[in-house]
Amino acid sequence: HDKDVGQQFAAVQLAVRLAAPHQLQPKPDNDDALAFGKVFTDHMLKIYYHRSLGGWQRPEITPLENLVMHPAAKVLHYAVELFEGMKAYRGVDGKIRIFRPNMNMNRMNLAAKRSGLPTFEGEEYIKCLSRLISIDSEWVPHSEAASLYIRPTLIGIDPTLGVASSDSALLYTILSPVGSYFKADNDGAVSLLADPQYTRAWPGGVGNRKMGSNYAPTINVQKEAAQKGLQQVLWLYGEDHQLTEVGTMNIFMFYAQENGDKVLVTPPLNGLILPGITRDSILALTKQWGKFEVREEVITMPQVSQLLNEGRLLELFGTGTACVVSPINRINYMGTNLYIPTMEQEKPIHETIRETLTGIQYGKIEHPWAVTI
Ligand code: PMP
Repeated sequence: HDKDVGQQFAAVQLAVRLAAPHQLQPKPDNDDALAFGKVFTDHMLKIYYHRSLGGWQRPEITPLENLVMHPAAKVLHYAVELFEGMKAYRGVDGKIRIFRPNMNMNRMNLAAKRSGLPTFEGEEYIKCLSRLISIDSEWVPHSEAASLYIRPTLIGIDPTLGVASSDSALLYTILSPVGSYFKADNDGAVSLLADPQYTRAWPGGVGNRKMGSNYAPTINVQKEAAQKGLQQVLWLYGEDHQLTEVGTMNIFMFYAQENGDKVLVTPPLNGLILPGITRDSILALTKQWGKFEVREEVITMPQVSQLLNEGRLLELFGTGTACVVSPINRINYMGTNLYIPTMEQEKPIHETIRETLTGIQYGKIEHPWAVTI
């Protein structure tokens, strides 16, 4: 941590103010059909930071309520904001688990540092979060097609207009029961718009940090994709049209090399790509399986076209917390449709990967990545 952050918060100080019975929200009847992020649980976690008061303040759980801030708050002007996306899963044994939460905490602290916001002790935060989830535990869906999405958020709330680091901040967390993230085509795969005139991230930028400012400029491009009947944006970078990410997912390609050996590749963490926790987990699992080669290397559109022409491209899929694995069946690239045979494989690896990861998350496979709250 930065020494000048001052005092840290501790979970033992957590104060809890429960919602009154009349404040409790009705729970959804059908968790599997829930749209993403539209329904929220009864409580939230708040931790304020005030430099003038020595640093991080006492964590508190309160009923879900509106935030009040000064209209000059830095978050509202310079997007001094960053967030995380995690999930709590109700296991087949009834226990509630979260997945590799320390990875989210590390990523969040890196984004805080880059935003001039105070860093914090991830372990203490996870203890507070676990308490919040226990209090709202009935909101964790009783279904393997659904889970409780967790949105930790850190904002700069200093009521001053200077473009400078914020002396006050709020780390808050809201929870939302969610079903599956995408409305996929009938076969469960998604189609993509790949338009090289748009760029999501660039060298020296913050494409590798989960900051709100990365997402606003993607919305209109996503809308353009939807107008063309395509479900997601494939973000390209550079003269050679490198594939970087799909919507809010990392990308993986499985193909046969010239000698017939199969290889799984994903772009390297070169600053243009969010270091996805699903990505990291898939790399670790598939390397451990040892059934095919696994590499981090740049993928370009000309390479995709060539592999398709030679019949060597097997699978293309996005990966992320929201969807786990999202197979891709078509890319609209410079006016032509490239049909990807992801769904035509006999024993696709994206299916095995999904089964393994969800098996760990829902407690069917014992694994240290799954942390019981
Ligand atoms: N890329 C972007 C741009 C994202 O927003 C996300 C979601 N956090 C991911 C990739 C996937 O990351 P993770 O596997 O940690 O959810």
